[in-house]
Order: sequence, then structure tokens, then C-alpha cells
Amino acid sequence: MAPDLRNCPMCGRTFAYQGRNICNKCLEKEDDDYAIVRRYVRDNPGASVAEVAEATEIDEEKILQFLRDGRLVTKGMRYTTMCERCGKTISSGKFCDSCLKQLGAQFKSVIPSARKAPEPETKPRDKGKDRMHIIGED
Ligand SMILES: [Zn+2]
Ligand SMILES: [Zn+2]
Repeated sequence: MAPDLRNCPMCGRTFAYQGRNICNKCLEKEDDDYAIVRRYVRDNPGASVAEVAEATEIDEEKILQFLRDGRLVTKGMRYTTMCERCGKTISSGKFCDSCLKQLGAQFKSVIPSARKAPEPETKPRDKGKDRMHIIGED
């Protein structure tokens, strides 16, 4: 079977795809970076992402990626990210509190209307109107 060749987005090299989007060299580098970040955070609990990036010379974006991947789970680190809806800085998850509330409200509002009882299609007949009479004719 022909190898699935791809270009590494990190270094541009062509490599055989094996389940990871980056080449082995970059993968190794990423693991090294991860080890460095992890060590730094362990030694410096409470450091912000920006501080870690500066101290380790590793891209802030990459550190955030470690956090998003769940690889870097640290108690001390002040992890901030952005709300996917409004861009507000949040400490965890995908959305800020107010967007979560709004999304929750939107979601809830759908349910009662779907459950609303259907209007009766025909109203009970007014019997009086069934009786015809012609007025003004003999
Ligand atoms: Zn690469
Ligand atoms: Zn938001």
C-alpha cells in the first residue's frame, strides 16, 4: 500500500502520515517542548501561559494547544482561553458564563414550543347559525 504522504505544517517536509498531522521530527520536538513546559510549570506553579512561554521560549499558542489537548493538566497554572462565541477571556471550557446562559436559554426556549398542545382545528359549532332564514321575503 502506498504511504499517505503529507506535508508537515510545522516544517514543510513531506512525511508518511501515521495518524498524526505532523512529521516525526516535529512530533519529537513537540514532545520535548511539552516536557520543558511541564517541568517549568511543575517548578513554577501559578505561572501564566505568557510567563511560561517567555521562560521556556515555546510559543504561547503551542502551550495553549497542550492545554486544549488535555496533555498539560496543571493545578497551579492560570489557564486562560477565549470564549468561542464572544471572544471574552475565560478560564476553562469553550464559552464564557454569559454565553453559556444565553445558549442555555436558547436551548430551553425550543422545548416548550415543541410541546405546546395543538390548537383545536374546528371550534364547536354555534347551532343558531345553522338555521337559515331569509329576511324581507314572503
Ligand atoms: Zn515537521
Ligand atoms: Zn462569551
